[in-house]
Amino acid sequence: MRRLLRVTEPVDLGAVDPRSTPGLPDRAVTGEHRKAWARAQVGLLGAELAQQQEMLYATAQAAEAGRHAGSPAQRVLLVLQAMDSGGKDGTIKRVAGAMNPLGLHIRSFGPPTPEELRHDFLWRIRRALPPPGYVGIFNRSHYEDVLVARVASLVPEATWRARYDEINAFERDLADDGVTLVKVLLHISYAEQGTRLLARLDDPRKHWKYNPADIDARARWDDYQAAYADALGRCDTDAAPWFVVPADRKWYRDWAVAHLLHETFDTLRLGYPPAGFDVARERERLRAGGAVADGTVEVNGR
Ligand code: AMP
Ligand code: MG
Repeated sequence: MRRLLRVTEPVDLGAVDPRSTPGLPDRAVTGEHRKAWARAQVGLLGAELAQQQEMLYATAQAAEAGRHAGSPAQRVLLVLQAMDSGGKDGTIKRVAGAMNPLGLHIRSFGPPTPEELRHDFLWRIRRALPPPGYVGIFNRSHYEDVLVARVASLVPEATWRARYDEINAFERDLADDGVTLVKVLLHISYAEQGTRLLARLDDPRKHWKYNPADIDARARWDDYQAAYADALGRCDTDAAPWFVVPADRKWYRDWAVAHLLHETFDTLRLGYPPAGFDVARERERLRAGGAVADGTVEVNGR
């Protein structure tokens, strides 16, 4: 999936069908079955992701204690970008939801606060990075500063134009620091966004998710697509690759993002670190204290 969904240059988002399902195996038949199959797969992948996440965490702990070679700062950072209602929240709920919350570091980025505006645009991003051993997820990111900042003219053109290089330098530093970046654009169609926004208006329980400003952004759809194409084209590097996930079908979107994460973990060749103590000796000490039946520690008296 990393090969299949990696953005290609020149970037032409119009050529990517948001309803397509690249990489979905043929055995995933058609219609409703396809959906059920993909959902079940996300569940299975989730269990594997949880284990990979645990190995990442355990390895970082061991490295910090000086017991394991390798970068002590190793972490994974999933960057999610999309138009409004593109499915960032849903993806986090379903894909990250399968992992251990203790090892997750999820951050959302809205309009900068007055304090954030007093600093460089990467300031708040640096402060939000996941600690070693964690899986970070960014719900929006520094890319807003070359997307909404550009389309809504929040800063002069010279300012946002200079940011592509700044972002590349920043992400290269992150990679050198042990951060494995996975940048994903959830690519929805104009029609699908219209349907989803309407659904939000139709359901009072979803009004909290609706923002009248979303319609203003929707009116600038083509400008946003052009801004996305530039951001992806200028900031797709081997150290920090961009992936385009067709996202009109939620079940495909979740399945694809879960695979991207899984494959990314695979590239890290993770394993469990060796114990930092003498296991046999600890077993003896434990037995010496009694209350051990059949070589098993009694748990809750059972
Ligand atoms: P939501 O993701 O629905 O909570 O919306 C967050 C809003 O914050 C979106 O309208 C984004 O465009 C906006 N936003 C995020 N980052 C920035 C930024 N750096 N500058 C201006 N607006 C931003
Ligand atoms: Mg919103």
